[in-house]
Amino acid sequence: MSLWKNIDPAPPDAILGLTEAFKKDRNPNKVNLGVGIYKADNGRTPVLESVREAERRILDAGEEKTYLPITGSEAYGEAVRGLLFGENAGAMSERAVTAHAPGGTGALRLGADLLQRFRSASTVWVSDPTWANHHGIFAAAGFEIQSYPYYDRENSRLDFDAMLAALKDVPANDIVLLHVCCHNPTGEDLSPEQWEALAAAACEKGWIPFLDFAYQGFAEGLEADRRGVRAMAEAGPDCLIAGSFSKNFGLYCERAGSLTLTAHTADDAATAESHLKKTARVLYSNPPAHGARIVTTILDDPTLAAQWKEELAGMRRRIHAMRRQLADGLRSRDVPLECDHFERQQGMFSFSGLNGEQVDFLRDEKSIYIVRSGRINVSGLTADNIDYVCESIAEAVK
Ligand code: PMP
Repeated sequence: MSLWKNIDPAPPDAILGLTEAFKKDRNPNKVNLGVGIYKADNGRTPVLESVREAERRILDAGEEKTYLPITGSEAYGEAVRGLLFGENAGAMSERAVTAHAPGGTGALRLGADLLQRFRSASTVWVSDPTWANHHGIFAAAGFEIQSYPYYDRENSRLDFDAMLAALKDVPANDIVLLHVCCHNPTGEDLSPEQWEALAAAACEKGWIPFLDFAYQGFAEGLEADRRGVRAMAEAGPDCLIAGSFSKNFGLYCERAGSLTLTAHTADDAATAESHLKKTARVLYSNPPAHGARIVTTILDDPTLAAQWKEELAGMRRRIHAMRRQLADGLRSRDVPLECDHFERQQGMFSFSGLNGEQVDFLRDEKSIYIVRSGRINVSGLTADNIDYVCESIAEAVK
């Protein structure tokens, strides 16, 4: 008898399933605004020149392909902390340890499993809404999941007062997941003052911040984007930071992520690291090397690092430009949608305000693929498709 005979198939992943449907679509005008991958104006995801050069050097060096240490190489950990904390991070960096994890997703799961070693079935608080996989990852690790208010759908804006009020009621030792920048899916970020208020609430209430930092450099720049990390690390609660180089180095398939833990003392950090090793060992044993070697090669070479920063700034500028063009294109067609938020929001994603029916119309009639919540990947817009998309949205909402 087959093991699978009486088992229903699992539904396709809501976002990756959309890409499958997009690939099958034969309409030459089709547009994919679904999955969160950066696209250049030619509609392709670039391999950065700094990455190509680093790969040439790695190939020439001909390093062995033996296992990496469980938490990855020391050089990678240092490079990660350099980007997370910035210059003058001194003490902050000394009280922190980093594990190289398989992507930001792997980092989140590693952190979730690590926390479960000490607190069975505790609760994690996520923003409403949040990246759908947050629910899946923390549920798989045995957490109960609760939501805190984040987005005011009626007025298309962040509702910080409601967020802070809810987080002031979170019990000590619960986990609070926060998006550091480029909130996925809404694109609404916190101001420096709001981060200060959250850090104070974490200290006062004793909840544990788990920072998801998948888009450093995609909002305002490497320095400005790290302010949430700095605010938390300076205020003092021990926190977990999941990093990813999928987006800012364009290394999606290389799975170069990181989990950094900050602690009160270097000794505490060493204890935390010992448990991090135990946790990673049973999940994937040790991390994949190539992507991390690329990142380390770039960040350790001032010329390559400068080139990468310029390429990253180019991606950021293009996202901002497409946001402006989308807002202008919809305004000029008198579309009855609030458009200012397209320009205000940060990162690749915008909550468009389109409802499920309108999203279905755009997919079925126009071959424009958008996540059903109305989340748009703005970088999927190009000079070639922007008019078609604006025209089609105008038709969908009329
Ligand atoms: N967190 C958020 C908010 C994300 O949007 C993503 C990627 N979509 C990740 C984490 C995971 O990134 P990675 O591809 O590196 O696993």
